[in-house]
Amino acid sequence: MTYKNFTVENDADGIALVTWDMPDRSMNVFTEEVMDELEEIIDEVVAEAGVKGAVITSGKESFSGGADLGMLQKMLGIFHAEKARNPHKATQLLFDGAGRMGWLWRKLETSGKPWVAAINGTCMGGAFELALACHGRVAADSDKVKMALPEVKVGIFPGAGGTQRVPRLTDQQQALQMLTSGQQLSPQKAKAMGLIHEIAAPEKLVETAKAMIRNGLKPVAPWDEKGFKLPGGPIYSAAGANLWPPAIAILRRETYGNYPAASAILKCVYEGLLVPFDTALRIEQRYFTEIMQTKEAAAMIRSLFVSLQELNKGARRPAGLPDTKFTKIGVIGAGFMGAGIAYVTARAGIPVVLIDRDIEAAEKGKAHSDGLITDAVKKGRAKPEEKEKLLSLITPSADYADLAGADLVIEAVFEDSAVKKTATEKAEAALGAGAVFASNTSTIPITSLAKNSARPNDFIGIHFFSPVDRMMLVEIILGKKTGDKALATAIDYVRAIKKTPVVVNDTRGFYVNRCVLRYMSEAYKMLIEGVPAAMIENAAKAAGMPVGPLALTDETAVDLAQKIMKQTARDLGDKAVDPEQMKLIDTLVDGHGRFGRKNGKGFYDYPPKPAKKKLWPGLKDLYPQKRAEDVDYEELKRRLLVTIALEAARVMEEGIVTDPREADVGSILAFGFAPYTGGALSYIDGIGAAEFVKVAKGLQKKYGAEFKPPRLLIDMAAKGETFYQRFDPYAKDGEKQAA
Ligand code: NAD
Repeated sequence: MTYKNFTVENDADGIALVTWDMPDRSMNVFTEEVMDELEEIIDEVVAEAGVKGAVITSGKESFSGGADLGMLQKMLGIFHAEKARNPHKATQLLFDGAGRMGWLWRKLETSGKPWVAAINGTCMGGAFELALACHGRVAADSDKVKMALPEVKVGIFPGAGGTQRVPRLTDQQQALQMLTSGQQLSPQKAKAMGLIHEIAAPEKLVETAKAMIRNGLKPVAPWDEKGFKLPGGPIYSAAGANLWPPAIAILRRETYGNYPAASAILKCVYEGLLVPFDTALRIEQRYFTEIMQTKEAAAMIRSLFVSLQELNKGARRPAGLPDTKFTKIGVIGAGFMGAGIAYVTARAGIPVVLIDRDIEAAEKGKAHSDGLITDAVKKGRAKPEEKEKLLSLITPSADYADLAGADLVIEAVFEDSAVKKTATEKAEAALGAGAVFASNTSTIPITSLAKNSARPNDFIGIHFFSPVDRMMLVEIILGKKTGDKALATAIDYVRAIKKTPVVVNDTRGFYVNRCVLRYMSEAYKMLIEGVPAAMIENAAKAAGMPVGPLALTDETAVDLAQKIMKQTARDLGDKAVDPEQMKLIDTLVDGHGRFGRKNGKGFYDYPPKPAKKKLWPGLKDLYPQKRAEDVDYEELKRRLLVTIALEAARVMEEGIVTDPREADVGSILAFGFAPYTGGALSYIDGIGAAEFVKVAKGLQKKYGAEFKPPRLLIDMAAKGETFYQRFDPYAKDGEKQAA
């Protein structure tokens, strides 16, 4: 038989080698067609008397990325369409769809012939579940092999047997850790956990897998054998009694109950391990059907998988321009940001000229890269030869003439228009025609900086976040005259350094900082009202934010917050800044020398490690404190999310961000906006514009004009629209509709 996505070759020993290699994709994924073909292959292997067993591997560099989430989205689409007509039938269809993969893997497992997975590269999700259903698993000894069940990161869970086979192969604690975190496993780790049987040299991978069959591998899973015992002991045992109560508490501490999929994993494992395997699979299928219907799953799949992937592939790149191949990039200013930019650029294999006012400063900037990569080597995240290569790519210099030949220059000098003007002029004198000049400014409008340029068409903002090596988002800022080529080059660059670009029109604070400032400002207001600081921080985390607003102020520096407020008052008038909030920040900075984490004193005290930071007790003396029972905790959570979401809506109304995917993904990557919501706009869509406007108006009455819903939202509420309908990113002409 011939297949579109697989080849099957039988060798002289009667072992079938099934090679998965989808012709139209760079990575293998499970589609309906792939599953149909696999089912035929299983039938073929079983039917052919001469075939003793089969090895399944991939013809690509990776094994497989798992299920095509587009397939899940399609299943959900059918479900929602059918639900209105016949809810029972709709749920049955979804249940059957949810179980398709799981029961197919079970069919393979109980086919009566031995199957071995030869894992040659990245093996994720459903693909790893397929491997777990095989009777033998061999992984290549290579950095390229990473195995994981990462579904929880997009709001679902491993629903094709993963929650049942992992805790039957390893102890329950490790299983829960792996399943609820989506943790990636190296071959060594997977073997130590008992999840794979062998590790082989890449060139001997298939041979080793075949040898398992030749050596008489039993075609029966351990849990199908009589007398099977769970590796970590049964649920109702001393070990189980020690594990389960804290496991539930830990999950609650980590997720605050915001992630239904994570809770479902615990239920699947707990309930599944009490019953025979086929019943366990059915339990998993039921929970999977339930989780698929949650708002969280739909929002997370959309933002954290579909939209993220689309943006990473350059969804906002102007069409028709050739890809930029970077041969040299200039970075001007080797300070805090410039040094980080040089590092991520060189890490992507691009030569960098790193310019500062004198060679010592430039070299100090390069030393930052040395520090980061040395640390990475120590932790096993990079190889010594990678360190050598990276450092050889960075050339420190104090001579702007060294920028000659650069395709792109990124300026990260002091936040001072005059200094930036000099840097732009000197750089342009050295650059060839067609090179793009980018500024990393965080506050100065790109349009005004572009006036320093002889070619404003090629002038753009590339706004990084700190720490540059860890923050995955980059804002690309368009000035009035920025041309398509500059935009394409900037997107190509951000893609080359493997970060996610969002395209933003020029405005004060761009997108991210506008939202972050609202988050912090709401917390200052709460403090001033007398809400205990610990409640503010806890409410933020319970709402799903990774870092509380006071801790975040400390990270970015309290004196920076002061500078921003003062600058805002100078630029927009005193009314633009709340005098009470100004007083709070002045008291911290000028009155108590509390600058933030950088001097060990901010809203928190930072004692020497390993002691943990603690809220500064002096905060209690600044305002009369409310009693905890007099504070509406749920309202605190709501205020923090709503204030950010409102700012995101204003940014859309003003046309600063034009694509809801960018607003959503940007809000999660830049400041961790409650990921279970799918991002700041999906949060509004999830609540519904009408209900959200009602909530905002209620808060406006109690807490002021910051909560006034913009006209856009009121209009959307009246029309019953969502952001993804109104600003449809997939509108046919590719143009975004105007607000
Ligand atoms: P920094 O003070 O750490 O670094 C600035 C560097 O520029 C210094 O090393 C300085 O010697 C050098 N420099 C000054 N004039 C120069 C010139 N004419 N030619 C060459 N080098 C010159 O500042 P930073 O925090 O890295 O900020 C740099 C830029 O990045 C600013 O525009 C800032 O607004 C922006 N930014 C900062 C952050 C942040 O978190 N710090 C975040 C995003 C953007």
